[in-house]
Amino acid sequence: MVSNVSNQAAPTVAVIGGGLGGLSAALSLAAGGCSVDLYEKNSHLGGKLNVLTRDGFSFDLGPSIFTLPQIFQQLFARAGRRMEDYLTLQPVTPHWRNFFEDGRVVDLDPDAERMNQQLALLGPGLEKPFREFLNYSKKQYDLVEEGYFQQGLDTFFQLLKYYRWRVFGLDFLSTMHRSVCCRLPNAYLQDIFDFFIKYVGSSAVRAPGFMNLMPHIQFGYGLWYVEGGMYNLARGLEKVLRELGVRIHCNCEVTAMPTEGRRVSGVQAGGQFHPAQWVVCNMEVIPAYKKLLPLPPSSWRRLQKYEPACSGIVIHLGVDRIYERLAHHNFFYSGNQRKHFDTVFRQHQLPDDPTLYVVAPARSDRTVAPPGCDNIKILPHIPWINDELPCPAEDYLALKERVLDKLERMGLQDLRKHIVLEHFWTPVDIRSLYASNGGAIYGVVSDIWKNLAFKAPKQCREFANLLFVGGSVNPGGGMPMVTLCGQLASDIILRNLQRQAAGGYVRTSAS
Ligand SMILES: Cc1cc2nc3c(=O)[nH]c(=O)nc-3n(C[C@H](O)[C@H](O)[C@H](O)COP(=O)(O)OP(=O)(O)OC[C@H]3O[C@@H](n4cnc5c(N)ncnc54)[C@H](O)[C@@H]3O)c2cc1C
Repeated sequence: MVSNVSNQAAPTVAVIGGGLGGLSAALSLAAGGCSVDLYEKNSHLGGKLNVLTRDGFSFDLGPSIFTLPQIFQQLFARAGRRMEDYLTLQPVTPHWRNFFEDGRVVDLDPDAERMNQQLALLGPGLEKPFREFLNYSKKQYDLVEEGYFQQGLDTFFQLLKYYRWRVFGLDFLSTMHRSVCCRLPNAYLQDIFDFFIKYVGSSAVRAPGFMNLMPHIQFGYGLWYVEGGMYNLARGLEKVLRELGVRIHCNCEVTAMPTEGRRVSGVQAGGQFHPAQWVVCNMEVIPAYKKLLPLPPSSWRRLQKYEPACSGIVIHLGVDRIYERLAHHNFFYSGNQRKHFDTVFRQHQLPDDPTLYVVAPARSDRTVAPPGCDNIKILPHIPWINDELPCPAEDYLALKERVLDKLERMGLQDLRKHIVLEHFWTPVDIRSLYASNGGAIYGVVSDIWKNLAFKAPKQCREFANLLFVGGSVNPGGGMPMVTLCGQLASDIILRNLQRQAAGGYVRTSAS
């Protein structure tokens, strides 16, 4: 964290987008002494962290799993606040309930003894490989955290420079799936641990092995729920922003970033030009290059390796009964998960039998559904939108029916008959609401062959005073990562401002 800039005339910053990446940057910059204006095209802050309240149900439209609370605590601390004064976290136990097509059900539980009992349901002798896998996961996490997360490394070259020979401690020559299979001698566990890739919307078969750091995120630091609904995180951050004097402009889309030489001069929003010394863009990198910057197509074509992560159909159901079998977080596995990964991430087609993520938050919070009712969110991962080969709306609807068939077959009896409220989103809705690239829900895909799980750099190459934040830049998608990203980007700006104030040479990676 960088200390405050001297505050004679506070440097002006425009933040484009009020997703968690933008909120985190705005908060860190305001706390660091900048004068911040935040422009959000929608009527709400939080971006994909969004909520729908209807007929006594309250649906978290976006994220439902909260991990790595220390990253959020650190953000509030930048403003001299305690996160606990703005929102309450509650641990979720068990972490996940896993349902298989053959009827087997097993929980992932943070308690070692209960976890061992669950492992026994899958076969003998699994405790040792399970623990060894978690140790390997911790080693990957510790190494990635030290450099890639904390130092904000943006390229493989920076990674090599930072880690030197220690880079070989990172599991980057194998895929996540191969490393899971060599360490876990059980097909059920392989499916479960492969699906930790859900956290970044990619394929375990194509992601590098070090992405196996994710189980440690969950087992080492816990899995949490924000009391009263995940959206309370956005409310808490908005409150701090207002206390810090950030000027928030909702329903105010930025339509251009005018430039002067190698600098952007501000933003065009609400029909007016707003000058700014620095611009932080929470709109994804490729859409921003295409829509906001006066650059030729060659500028964004070089970014094509940062392909979008998956999109999804998102089904929210209010049902007039409670499905006792469900835990808070549930996974209903594909009968052939390798095929699911291949269909979605290589063939870019809708899967016949996807693995389903199913959330039933009323297990932790009875306020999200009327008495006697359940609140269920269903999210299968599917390909991002390819405009040259768009998916017909009927195909999304047909997939929804396959999903409901699967859930009824795997234990949610007569689900359709109990639906009293339905809300359904396709990738087209996601793209139009958040302007994400191809309707991606986690930013950029993590792919060993395309980008070795690197996302685009935070610093814009063409314009020295423009930074990007959010899921399309390092360290990538998911609530904690984009929140960390906002802090790292603001540190780059604050360091520059300090050097400028000291009369020093201002060097950015673009200069
Ligand atoms: C259904 C779903 C489930 C998810 N589940 C989880 C989960 O369980 N756990 C987890 O950690 N993560 C989850 N994620 C991912 C997580 O929500 C995202 O990675 C994260 O919230 C993205 O934050 P962001 O800042 O990158 O972008 P966004 O949230 O997309 O914010 C970008 C903002 O910029 C605004 N904007 C764009 N263009 C402009 C413009 N020109 N002018 C003004 N404003 C603009 C958009 O309206 C938006 O508000 C999920 C996402 C979805 C959609």
